[in-house]
Order: sequence, then C-alpha cells, then structure tokens
Amino acid sequence: MIQESVDVLIIGAGPSGCVAAGYLHKNNASVKVVEKTKFPRFVIGESLIPRSMEHYEAAGLLDCLMAQNFEKKFGARFIRGNEVCLFDFSDKFTEGWNWTWQVPRADFDNTLAQEIIRKGIDLEFETEVLDVVFNGTSSIITVSDKEGTLKQISAKFIIDSSGYGRVLPRLLQLDAPSSIPENSSLFAHVIDSKRPAGTEGTLISFDILETKVWLWVIPFSNGTTSIGVVGPTAFINTLSPDTAEALKAVINRSDFYRDRFEGIDFLFTPHKIENYSCSVTRLCGPGYTLTGNSSEFLDPVFSSGVCFATESGLLSAKLFLRELNGEAVDWDTEYTEYMRRGVNVFATYVKEWYTGNLQTLFFHKPENPDVKRKICAVLAGYVWDEENPFVKKHDNVIRNMAYILNNEKSAQ
Ligand code: FAD
Repeated sequence: MIQESVDVLIIGAGPSGCVAAGYLHKNNASVKVVEKTKFPRFVIGESLIPRSMEHYEAAGLLDCLMAQNFEKKFGARFIRGNEVCLFDFSDKFTEGWNWTWQVPRADFDNTLAQEIIRKGIDLEFETEVLDVVFNGTSSIITVSDKEGTLKQISAKFIIDSSGYGRVLPRLLQLDAPSSIPENSSLFAHVIDSKRPAGTEGTLISFDILETKVWLWVIPFSNGTTSIGVVGPTAFINTLSPDTAEALKAVINRSDFYRDRFEGIDFLFTPHKIENYSCSVTRLCGPGYTLTGNSSEFLDPVFSSGVCFATESGLLSAKLFLRELNGEAVDWDTEYTEYMRRGVNVFATYVKEWYTGNLQTLFFHKPENPDVKRKICAVLAGYVWDEENPFVKKHDNVIRNMAYILNNEKSAQ
C-alpha cells in the first residue's frame, strides 16, 4: 500500500513549509511537500519582519522574492490620535537586516512554492494529509488527492507546517490554550485609489483606536492595500454581523485614515477570524516537529507570525539534517527551548501592548533614542539577542518603565 518513501514529509506549503523544504533539498535530503489547496490561495499575514530575510536566504529562496518587487518595508508607524511613533529598522540595537517586505500573501506564498518546484522538490497541491501513524520515529502518512484517491507515504520525519490546519496537534491531541487574551479580527483588501504620493502612501501603519483596538493599513506595490481591525472578541462581536459594514464603521473611527478610505469598495467580503491565538502542549516529539501556526500563534500586532513560521521551519530542517547524518540532537533544548525563548519575548510585548504599557513607552515624549533602538531590534525579530536588555529582561522592563513614566506624568 506504501507508494512513496521520503526522508522528510512536509505538511503545508506556506512560508514555513517552503523554507524547510528549500533548506533540506539544498542539503541533499529527499523531501516531499503536500499542500491541501491549489495556489495561489489567500491567507492573512502580510507584514513581514527583517529577521525572516535570513531564513529565505538560508533556504535559497531570497532571489525569487527579490524579483517580485514587493513593497519594501523599512520600519513601522504607530499612530494614536495626534501622536506618532515611527520605528526605522536601520536604527536598531541588534545587527541584522534593515528592511523586509509587505506582501499580498497569495503572490508571496505562490512565489515560494513555484520556486521550490523549480528547484526539483516534489510539491503536490490539492493533496490533504488525513492520518499519520507513527512507528517509533518513522511514520506512515495517509493523504487524499483532488480525485479523493488515497495514498500512503512513508517518512523518516514529519515537519508539520499546516498552519491553521494544525494537522498533528489535532491528530495527537496537542492543542493547548494560548496565554494571550481572546482577540478577533476583520480584514479585506481595497484598491487604494486615494493613496497619497511618496512615503505616506506606502508606509505600513497601525492606528490605535482604543488601547485594545487597532487598525492596520498595509499598502502593497500592486496598488491595493490591506486594511484590518483587531480587538477583543467581545468588542468585534458588538459590530454589525455584515463584515463590510463592520469594517467600514471601524475605518470611519480613524481620524487618520477616514478620508483616504471613504467610499472605497472592498475587493472581497471582509473575512473574520475569531479567537485566533493558539498554542500546543509540545513543539516536537519522536519523528516530528510542529512549525509556524501549527504550533503557536500569538497576535498580529507585531507581525511575528511569518517570522516564527520560517524560523521554526528552518530550525527543524537543520536539526533533522544533523540527525540524518548520525549526530545526536537534543530536541527539547535545541528546538523547544530555543523556540519558546523567542516566542516568550514576543508574548510579553503582545501582552504589554494590550495593557497599554508598551504604548506608554512608544508615545512618550521626548523620545529616548536608546530605548527606541532596543525595542526596534525586538520589532525587527531579533528576539534571541540577550545582549539587548529589552530581550533579556522582557518580563519586567516594559512594565517597570511604563510605571515610572506614568508616575512622572501624574506628578507633573
Ligand atoms: P500557513 O501560511 O497558514 O500555511 C499552511 C498551509 O498548510 C496552508 O497552505 C494550508 O492549506 C496547508 N494545510 C492545512 N492543512 C493541511 C492538510 N491537512 N494537508 C496538507 N496541507 C494542509 N503574521 C505576520 O507575520 N504578519 C502579519 O501581519 C500577520 N497578520 C495576521 C493577521 C491576522 C488577523 C491573523 C489571524 C494572523 C496574522 N499573521 C501575521 C499570522 C500569519 O497568518 C501566520 O503566522 C503565517 O501565515 C503562518 O505561516 P505557516 O507557514 O505556518 O502557515
């Protein structure tokens, strides 16, 4: 019944799966990717962060992306009423990439997928993983193709990059509640016909409407722009059940963007995703790893999702290659602990965003350039640099600084 045998079977051809596949193939492992949908397909997650550029480079996938002329992202702007805080990735504490892109994911993910096919990797679209049976560290995976024909694949290792599909967490009952408060989101694309000329037209921005409610505006190089709102699920559910009405009502609350997007039609009925944060009880086990959204997703606020997806995809590939070459790998330390360290830094930033403490630091005047450079390194994805006190002491530095600033303000 087994029709194919591979070293690594990757579930899902999103950024996580493609980066893992690219790196494994480059290093001579036999790899197959199965993808449930047909590309291009829509997925949300359009604002990248600079550290992810290192992952595309390592996987041999940077050149194909460079050729696409995606909109370059040099930083990020946060707006609160009349207050503005602009981060510039070229002015950050940790060395590394100074820019990245803001991308329509259908095009971006399709570029990655077509490139790994071009390199000779076996990627099967419209093929869904239905079941996995482990025998020690190897496994038999049952997939169904678009005709509904079942096939079995044997693999030495599985990288589960199935994103919101969460294949192994479902099959192995690994789902765990997230530590992030329950938030939901509504989003769509528009033809940005009133886009201002110059930087203002292309700047990625986050407009804070209330401490816990914010709007994203992500302009793409193709003239369309992504707009979305994030807020507590209880708030999102007070809006009209008609998602177009609901998103228009929220945009109308933005003093900064109301005029630019007034009367503009959405290119598709706005999507709604409720309570998107998720976690797992473990990130790996005998014969498999969970990467990207199949493992943990925090919140869109600092655009960390795709970067963690590619970081974990790349690390899984690197560690498995070592094992394939007969080296011992301590998966708990080298994979789980490493990934959790980075995720925990971002988790603190997400939580402190919604308490308002981080916003206190962002909008404090006069700006403290040293603090800003250190926070900027975190926002660029350099969350493993323990030389940065805003990484090393993440669990109290923001809260303590906000406390001091708030006390100073009330004493004035
Ligand atoms: P995906 O990109 O989801 O790819 C997984 C693939 O697996 C899919 O193509 C799917 O079809 C396939 N699959 C699923 N099940 C199966 C199966 N059974 N068999 C075969 N294939 C399967 N992140 C950012 O970095 N920046 C942002 O601005 C951002 N904004 C966001 C806004 C919102 C509202 C939300 C909810 C998330 C946002 N994210 C953002 C997170 C981002 O969407 C994800 O972190 C990212 O897409 C994860 O990539 P991935 O490769 O893990 O999974």
